[in-house]
Amino acid sequence: MSEKFDLAIVGGGTTGLFAAYYATMRQMKVVLIEAQDQLGGKVMQFLPEKMIYDIGGFPDVSGEALVEQMIKQAKRHKPKILTGDFLEQVDKIDEQFRLVTAKGEEILTKTVLLATGTGAFHTRRPEEWNELPESSFKTSVPTTLMDMDSYQGRNVIIASNNKVGINWALYLKEMASKVVILNSNDTFLQAKQEELDLLAESDIEVHFHARLYDFLLKNDDKLSHVVFLNEDGHKETIEADKVLTHYGLELQAAPFEKWGIETTKGRISVDHLMKTNMEGIFAAGDIVQYPGKTTLIASGYSEAITAVNHAHLLIDPGTTEQLYSTVIYR
Ligand SMILES: Cc1cc2nc3c(=O)[nH]c(=O)nc-3n(C[C@H](O)[C@H](O)[C@H](O)COP(=O)(O)OP(=O)(O)OC[C@H]3O[C@@H](n4cnc5c(N)ncnc54)[C@H](O)[C@@H]3O)c2cc1C
Repeated sequence: MSEKFDLAIVGGGTTGLFAAYYATMRQMKVVLIEAQDQLGGKVMQFLPEKMIYDIGGFPDVSGEALVEQMIKQAKRHKPKILTGDFLEQVDKIDEQFRLVTAKGEEILTKTVLLATGTGAFHTRRPEEWNELPESSFKTSVPTTLMDMDSYQGRNVIIASNNKVGINWALYLKEMASKVVILNSNDTFLQAKQEELDLLAESDIEVHFHARLYDFLLKNDDKLSHVVFLNEDGHKETIEADKVLTHYGLELQAAPFEKWGIETTKGRISVDHLMKTNMEGIFAAGDIVQYPGKTTLIASGYSEAITAVNHAHLLIDPGTTEQLYSTVIYR
C-alpha cells in the first residue's frame, strides 16, 4: 500500500530543501525525492568549496556549509526524504497523483512541487574505473570537493581529464602536502590557457596518459598508495592519503513531456503562483521560466514559499495564504 502525502517535492537542491522545510512548517505531510545520493543539488555538485556572498543573513558561506544548514532546517519537522532515486513516472488518478521512482517506490500525493533544476547530474568515472579491483574504498571515492579540512597536510591524487581537476588541484595545493593529477588523456578538456599556465607554474605533479591501476590500502582500510600505468604502460606507485575523480558529468533530465508538463526550451513556464499547466503540480527554482526570472538560490526560496502556500490552499481552501514563522513557533 502506497504512503499518502500532501506534497511530493521532486529534487533536493536548495529550492527543494527549503520547500521541504516550509511545507512541513505549515504542517503538510511531505516527501522529497532526490536522484543523487547527496542532497544540495548544483551547489553541492559545482560549488561546495566556493564562497557564496548573496544569501541574506550570510555575509559569506561556503556551498557545503550552506547545504549543511539547509539539510538541518529541512529535517526539523521530519519530512520523508528519499535519496539516490530518480522520479520516473507521474500519473493523475482522480484527485491525486501517483508517482513511481526508478527503484519502484510508489507514492500517492495530493500535490507535487517540481524543483528539479535542469536535471540530475551523474558523474562519470575514468574508463579504467571498471577494471580496478572491487573494494568499498573504490565506491566511496568522491566526485566533488567537500570536507576541506580532511585534505590538510595530505597527499592528494586527482584523477581528472578536465578543468575541474585543475581547479581542485590549484585550490588544494595551499593546504595539501602534495597534489598529483593523473590524466588518462593528453589534454585537459575545457581548460583555459590561464588555468593551464597556473598549473604549469605550480608544483603540482601532472601525469598524462596515466591510467589508474590499483588502490593499496593499509590494515585499517585507509589508503596508502595509488598504482597507475604510465605513458609507457609501466606501473608506478605513489603515496596517497586522498583520491578525487572528475571525468565530466552526464545530465539526466526529468521526462516532463511524459508527465504532461509543458516546457519551453527545457524550462517549465509557471504563472505568478508557480502553477504549471497541470492543476496540482507546481514548480520552483532553476527549472522555471517567467518574465524576470533569476536563476539564484534566493529566488528559489521565494518561489518555493509561493508554491507551497498555494499547494496548501488547494488542499485546504480555508487556510491562510501565508503564515509568519514567528507566529507558528510562539
Ligand atoms: C558555477 C555556479 C555558480 C553559482 N553561483 C551562485 C551564487 O553565487 N549565488 C546564487 O544565488 N546562485 C548561484 N548559482 C546558481 C545556483 O546554484 C542555483 O540557482 C541553485 O542551485 C538552483 O537550485 P535548485 O534547487 O532550483 O536546482 P538544483 O540545484 O539543480 O537541484 C535540482 C535537484 O533535482 C534533482 N532532480 C532532477 N530531476 C530529478 C528527478 N526526476 N528525480 C529526482 N531528483 C531529480 C537533481 O539531482 C538536483 O539535485 C551558481 C550556479 C553555478 C553553476
